[in-house]
Amino acid sequence: MSRFWSAVVHGLTPYVPGEQPKLDKLVKLNTNEHPYGPSPRALAAIRAATDDSLRLYPDPNADALKAALARRHGLQPQQIFVGNGSDEVLAHAFMALLKQDRPLWFPDITYSFYPVYCGLYGIGQRVVPLADDFSIRVEDYLPQGGERPGAIIFPNPNAPTGRLLSLTDVERIVAGNPYAVVLVDEAYIDFGGDSAITLVDKYPNLLVVHTFSKSRSLAGLRVGFAAGHAELIEGLERVKNSFNSYPLDRLALAGAVASVEDEAFFQESCRKVIATRETLVGRMRALGFEVLPSAANFIFARHPQRDGAELAAELRKRAIIVRHFKAPRIDQFLRITVGTDEQCAILIEALREIL
Ligand code: PMP
Repeated sequence: MSRFWSAVVHGLTPYVPGEQPKLDKLVKLNTNEHPYGPSPRALAAIRAATDDSLRLYPDPNADALKAALARRHGLQPQQIFVGNGSDEVLAHAFMALLKQDRPLWFPDITYSFYPVYCGLYGIGQRVVPLADDFSIRVEDYLPQGGERPGAIIFPNPNAPTGRLLSLTDVERIVAGNPYAVVLVDEAYIDFGGDSAITLVDKYPNLLVVHTFSKSRSLAGLRVGFAAGHAELIEGLERVKNSFNSYPLDRLALAGAVASVEDEAFFQESCRKVIATRETLVGRMRALGFEVLPSAANFIFARHPQRDGAELAAELRKRAIIVRHFKAPRIDQFLRITVGTDEQCAILIEALREIL
């Protein structure tokens, strides 16, 4: 890499996303996309927005989307921040933590973008081990002795484990850290958890981040948002307007608004994924897999007699892609996206053959 870039850039270990191979004949269960398409109303809105107006800049404030999300969640539009995918929303939140004295606390097994952002922005990190059963222990996130966090972030449900923290436990962490912002990354919450968005009016230090990539089946559109106290949101807007005033394009804005307004489709498509997950978990257990309880659109499983990397490679030979992480404590596990019923049946058949 060029010596003209800074030492920070030379020192980065960037996040490596799951591969996105051509879909022909592949059963792609590696990046937690929704198996069914987005709302037909969202698709129609995107098509309708594909016209001469594309020569104009989009609304820099995304007012229509903020209004739709505020209505959906019973908030004010000033309590919503939107971005180009939740990765970008998170990036803005991390930028808002630049030069903090105290470190950001997060689990040792979690979304691997968090340490990457810390590296990029020079934010101190404290990695908090999960319990033996891979759950987040609330007590570990409460101030201990003289130690307290500058901020806290965790996904709920956690990724890649799928384990859910109850809303009561999330509230204990938020209430126990009144001087630190607590970021709850709810990328997968719609598949079985209670969102902490209901708590944002009560706690000025809570920021809840959502994505349209999973439960709304719009990963290709890149839309995410954060809900929080208006003062927290105002800080994110400042960061955004110092970086890119137009994060969401016209097509994304149109599609996202229509998706939010199609509540019936949203509920039904989440319900289908949850039902398929429960069947999949049962079948995996019947094959001898240990499967962690999942509240997400993926499962995390290991087989007591078979090596995780080997299983992933065997599946790959059969054109089935799942995610395997070469990381301490989880290298025997596979993270498997809940696909269609048909895809899950193909997976189970292949595993039966391999085992
Ligand atoms: N948070 C978590 C926990 C995730 O797993 C992902 C998806 N990989 C994201 C955030 C980012 O999602 P997106 O940028 O597509 O909104």
